[in-house]
Amino acid sequence: VVKHTGCGMLTFKNADAVAIVEKQLGPAAAQELQATSLDFLPFADLEQAVKDDVAYLTGSALVPHSVAVSGWVYEVETGRTRRVV
Ligand SMILES: [Zn+2]
Repeated sequence: VVKHTGCGMLTFKNADAVAIVEKQLGPAAAQELQATSLDFLPFADLEQAVKDDVAYLTGSALVPHSVAVSGWVYEVETGRTRRVV
């Protein structure tokens, strides 16, 4: 799993996305969007999001234990990648 600094997913919450839809497409569109319970999967903490994704994958029966899973952050500012988990 690799996420990156400066990611747009750090900049909003689902409610913000719904508000944009409502502003751009109107209340009926926003209502339909909310009815689907669609999750845009934003996250507030970069490293925690990496850890959560790794935990999800290592805990999934769909990913055999023989598959190595690790989590990383690509630092856009430096060009370096560092291991989180
Ligand atoms: Zn991104």
